[in-house]
Order: sequence, then structure tokens, then C-alpha cells
Amino acid sequence: MLPWTTYEAMYDAAISQPEQFWLEAAQRITWKQAPVSACRTRADGWHDWFPDATLNTCHNAVDRHVEDGRGEQAALIWHSCATKERQVVTYRELQGRVAGFAGGLRALGVGQGDRVLIAMPTMIETAIAMLACARIGAVHVVVFAGYAGPELARRIDDVAPKVIIIASCSFQGQTPVPSVPALKEALAKTAHRPQACVIVQREACPAPLLPERDHDFRTLEQSAPAEPVTLRSEEPLYILHTSGTTGHPKGIVRDNGGHAVALALSMELIYGCKPGDTFFTTSDLGWVVGHSYGVYAPLLSGCTSVIVEGGASASAIRVLCHEHDVKCLFTTPTQMRLMRQESRSLSGAILPTLAHIFVAGEYADPTLLEWARSYFRKPVVNHWWQTETGWSITAHFFGLPEREPVTLMNDIGRPAPGFCPAIVPPIPGEQCGEIVLSLPLPPGCLTGIWKDGAIRVPAAYLDETNRYYRTFDEGMIEAGRAVHMLGRSDDVIKVAGRRISGVQIEKIIATHPAVHACAVVAIADTLRGQRPVAYVVPDAEAACAPSAEEIVARVNAVLGRWIGLKEVRFVRHLPTTVSGKITRKRLLVS
Ligand code: AMP
Repeated sequence: MLPWTTYEAMYDAAISQPEQFWLEAAQRITWKQAPVSACRTRADGWHDWFPDATLNTCHNAVDRHVEDGRGEQAALIWHSCATKERQVVTYRELQGRVAGFAGGLRALGVGQGDRVLIAMPTMIETAIAMLACARIGAVHVVVFAGYAGPELARRIDDVAPKVIIIASCSFQGQTPVPSVPALKEALAKTAHRPQACVIVQREACPAPLLPERDHDFRTLEQSAPAEPVTLRSEEPLYILHTSGTTGHPKGIVRDNGGHAVALALSMELIYGCKPGDTFFTTSDLGWVVGHSYGVYAPLLSGCTSVIVEGGASASAIRVLCHEHDVKCLFTTPTQMRLMRQESRSLSGAILPTLAHIFVAGEYADPTLLEWARSYFRKPVVNHWWQTETGWSITAHFFGLPEREPVTLMNDIGRPAPGFCPAIVPPIPGEQCGEIVLSLPLPPGCLTGIWKDGAIRVPAAYLDETNRYYRTFDEGMIEAGRAVHMLGRSDDVIKVAGRRISGVQIEKIIATHPAVHACAVVAIADTLRGQRPVAYVVPDAEAACAPSAEEIVARVNAVLGRWIGLKEVRFVRHLPTTVSGKITRKRLLVS
């Protein structure tokens, strides 16, 4: 279905003829009312994709595949690394369960535009709850199940959900953690009161149901089925709070039509997947990658999606890839590092159906990618994402006949269609700077921020001219459009007035064979403003431990002595966010 053979032809088509490009891309979706125009500027200055066209995302992700003869194909395969359970749900079964649960939500009074908060680990029921909301036009707000009461409370008050759905427990490793105490703590703090709570009972730790408030998930699934409602393309599908390190979490709002089109196109163009292929993401469904590539993109494309609860080990990933003929694996560098550590006791993987592996979410050092390539003996590439964009800003394009230049493989790739990055250097003439994206952003990106019950222009992300979206990521753009990432603008260290990204130093330290992980932060220096300090986790399996002198010499050899790295602190582990990203700011206070 792709009309282009080269990256340049594809990218240029999206830039020079965006209406034609996106209307053509929209043909991957079954519309109730097909779009006649691709993009419209809203009265508030932001943009709507496929205005006035109508569709239902759940129908596109589930029902139409049953109608097209895929009813007996697995839609979702779930594996719990905590309980070792495995479940396979066909498209036909998924349709029945989603329609029934959608009917149950309706019976609880949930209607179009109402918010439903889902605080669940990665389970089949999480995906069912998301799709059921989409079916009846309710807006789902999935919250990472590991959040404690106060974080949950902030999100409840932000979106005022009519119904909250939880599992009776989640797991930390193999240990069940009951969810009701966190919900109770949250509801003791919130001004908002949900109308009802729905609980998925898990064998390891069932929860008592409060008669006036609580409902059993599986009983609700037996409700009279609800048919998909017709929604305008621009109506909200979901709200997802960003994992930002500073300030209040922002509720990113995603639409129905633009989201469906962008994800369906990306499956073909970026991941090289067609209907019937199996896609495996290790991301928790509570994060954007879990939303986009655990649930929506594979299902919109008639693929099978493998999802996992808990951190999958290298051997579990291998077994799942092997047993379910996975074509594309999407994971994180952190997961990859863990796999590297564990795989020392395993031989290289032989996985005939696996075509390629993608990582995203944080910096992936080239040595890690090289290791993964030699372990899997498959192409392994990095690509760049934000919760706000919903799909990758830059990527590698396995759907095109043209092969990527090998030199690009260690970087985050080239812009996806419709993303127009530019660099804003702090000093004119410099090559590095913040990466901004010209507006409008392509379909699939945020339609606004949820605030006080309304969708507002994401003003905090706009530059002073209102023509660019600020990514707050730093990098540079090379000839051939290759984008290089240097990390968040807030990771930048200024040594004697010269800029250096902590990530740039980390890249060098990570090449030391006895280093497992590292993070570089800036501390105040009376003479030079700031100086870097490296926190290093030695590789427990290495023949000999790394020394501070070796690490400093390595950095100096590449960047020069002006960097002023003198201190290397050896630690057993680095603090991370719940999504596994290193929280450098916490290093500074530890
Ligand atoms: P989140 O919205 O939580 O997914 O985080 C988005 C941020 O993660 C981006 O702004 C980047 O700072 C970082 N990020 C995402 N993908 C990559 C990547 N491939 N390499 C380096 N950093 C990345």
C-alpha cells in the first residue's frame, strides 16, 4: 500500500502536499464519514486532523477485523512475568468482551465525553477497558498502577472520572501488592468522588467489594453488548499524563481520527508490519508506548500484539518471540541493558521470524545497540519519542524498499512524515541546540492539554512566535536529515561558559567494558560555574572493576580536559522513575 520507494520521496510528499499525503494515509481507516480535508486550524490557533470526518476507533481496532475474516486470529497475547500466566484472546473474543464491558460501563452511567480512570497493570482487562471506553466515546485515562495514593489523587482530581477501574493487586517482582489501599488513600485526598469503582479480581490477592460503590469487572463484562458510537475525528480518545520530571503532570489529550491514521501508517512505514504480523512491546500499558504500540497500532493494523506484565527477562523475551513468531520487538535501552546482563549465561538468540528490534525512550549507547545486534543477529534501531507526539518524531523506515544508510543505525533516525524539526542554537552559528518542530504537528500528536474540564492549546510548549513546538530535547541535524539527540535541555552542563550535554559524556563512559550503567550530572563549581560528576554502576560480571582514573582518561581523550571531569562516584544502582528513566536530579541530593 506504500506508494514510495525512497525516504526522500515519502518525506517530501508529506511536506509539499500534506493534504494529499494525509488523505491518502487516512484510507487505512474505516470511516463512517470519510474525510474531505486533512487539517484545519482551530479558532484557538491549534489544529484538528480530518475535521468533520467520523469514525469509531474501537470498531477500527476490533470489529472490522472480525468482519474481514480475522476473527480467529489472536488479537492480544498476554504474559505475566509475575504469575507466569499466559492468555491468548482472538479478535472475535476481544469483540465480545469489549462490547460487553462497554455495555457494563454504560449501565454505570458512563456516556460520551465522560472520563474513566484505569489504574491497572498490563493485563488483557486493561486493554479491554481502554477499548470499551473508545467504543462508547468515553475518554480513558490510564494511570501507571505503581503510583502511590497522592499521585493517583492528583490525576483523579485533574480529570474527575465518573468511574475508576483497578485490579485487586499488581506485582512488585513476584510479590502481590494490593491496590485498594492506594485507591483508598487517594480518595481520602480528592475533592472529586467517582460514581463507581470496578475491580478486576486476581487470584493472588482478591479485594473486598464495597456494596455501594464497587463492581466486579468480569460480571460487568456479561452486560448487554454496546455497539460502537460514531465520533467526530477530533473528539478525545484518551488523556495520558506525562512523566515529566518537573511541575504538575500534564494531561496530554489525543484525538480519534488523527491518532488512528498516524498509528496505522507507522505500522507499515516504520515497523514494516502488515495484517497478521505479531508485534511485541515490553512497555507497560500505562505509558505512551504501551498505549500506542501495545494496544492501538497493532490492533488498528490487524496484527497480533504481545504484551507483558512486569519486567520481562531476556529468556522470557526470547521464549515469547519464539513461541508467537514475533516480527517486531519494541523495548527500552534499560530493558536491553538488563538483557545484556542476563544473556551472558545464554547463547545468542535464533529467532527466524524476528525482523527488527526498536528501542526508544532514553539514550541508547552504540555499544548497547551493537551488543543487541550481535545477540539477536537482527537490525536493532533507536527512535525518538515523546508522550506528547504519540508516535516517533524520528525513526528508521523498514516499510520502504530503500535500506537505511548503516551510519544512521546508531542514531535516532530521520523525521517521520509531517515532523519538521529545526534547531534553535543558544548562540547563533552553533550547530547544537533545542530541537523544535514547526506547526502544525502531524496527526497523532497532542490535540491539547486537559485543564479544568477542557482541552486547551498546549501553550507551555510553544515558542514565543507560536510557530514552533518546543521539544525541550537538544540535538543537531546533519546532512541527509539525520537527527542526533544530546538529551533534554535540562541535562545540559555549562563548563566555563561552554555547553556540554551530560549524555554526551555518558556516551563515552558507557564504552568502558566494565561499566554497566552511568549518569552524569552537573554540580556547582566556584571557578567554572558547573562541573560534571559521573555516577557509575560497575558491571558485576566484569573481570575487573573500572577505576575513576580510567573513566576520566577516556572522557578527556574524546572531549578534552576542559570538561573538568574529576569525580567519579561508584554506586550499586541509579535512581529511576517508575518508567525506568534515570532521575539525574535525585543523584544531586543523594
Ligand atoms: P516520555 O514523554 O516520558 O516518553 O519522554 C520523552 C523524552 O524521552 C524525550 O523528550 C526524550 O528526552 C527522551 N527520549 C525519547 N526517546 C529517546 C531516544 N530514542 N533517545 C534519547 N532520548 C529519548
